[in-house]
Amino acid sequence: MAVLEIVGAAAGAYALAVAISDWAERSCVIEIANMSADYWDLVRKGSSSGSFQEPTVTRIEPFNNVLITAVSGDFGQGAVGNLGFRARDLVLLMDYSNPVIGNNDLDASFEGARGGEFQLSTSAGPGNKGALFRCVIEQPVQEGWRYCPKCHGLFNDGPGSVCPAGGSHDPVGWEYALLHDVPDGPTLQANWRFCPKCRGLVAGGDPGSSRCPAGGPHDTSIGWSYCVPHDLPDGPRLQRGWRFCPKCHGLFAGGDPANSRCPAGGPHDPVGWIYNMAHKPG
Ligand SMILES: [Zn+2]
Ligand SMILES: [Zn+2]
Ligand SMILES: [Zn+2]
Repeated sequence: MAVLEIVGAAAGAYALAVAISDWAERSCVIEIANMSADYWDLVRKGSSSGSFQEPTVTRIEPFNNVLITAVSGDFGQGAVGNLGFRARDLVLLMDYSNPVIGNNDLDASFEGARGGEFQLSTSAGPGNKGALFRCVIEQPVQEGWRYCPKCHGLFNDGPGSVCPAGGSHDPVGWEYALLHDVPDGPTLQANWRFCPKCRGLVAGGDPGSSRCPAGGPHDTSIGWSYCVPHDLPDGPRLQRGWRFCPKCHGLFAGGDPANSRCPAGGPHDPVGWIYNMAHKPG
């Protein structure tokens, strides 16, 4: 399973968290990376030994990450406790420990009906002070999706693409990642498809009335069901402003529709939800 990289953007925040917890005998900086389209809200935060540093984290946004710093209290104690975050129909439970005696540890598990949609991975770094603990919440993604400045469409980079502005699509800017094969949600729409004729991303609902730049309708019969988030905020890994075009059924960047090129003729027509695309750093 591909995972969007997150470490680079968190490095500065991690250094700050280590600096402000340096007074404590034991401390750990717990990074929770949410590589999913769900919001996760804090529902549990307890320490059997020690406490937490400000600022308090209460929500993890989609395709974003947070740092929570746990510190020991009195001399001779460790930093030990638990955290819980709730998404729709699912709770993430974590137990962390940077003890006075013994190894550092971070355990995480899900409780709830949607646990099968996600995968968890955890690690507990070494050290008495500023130990980096990480918990990554993942859904399956495919990288390699790009923006084409000639038509403004989203396409999967590879040989044989066909651009409605002529020639092949031109990959420019960020590399995007698409969730696939997870169910619909309040802010997630499934059944987007890859068209092998043009390499574009196409809404799969009514292929017969779509228009492909390679001629005829798009082919939505092969491959995964891709899932596109919508109505989420901008974030460090999430770009807002993608739109559906009812003329061709493609997804395109909605910032300057007048200069876009639709395979059905003229520019794309931005209709319906405002979609978000997750992307790699850089
Ligand atoms: Zn293009
Ligand atoms: Zn097509
Ligand atoms: Zn169009």
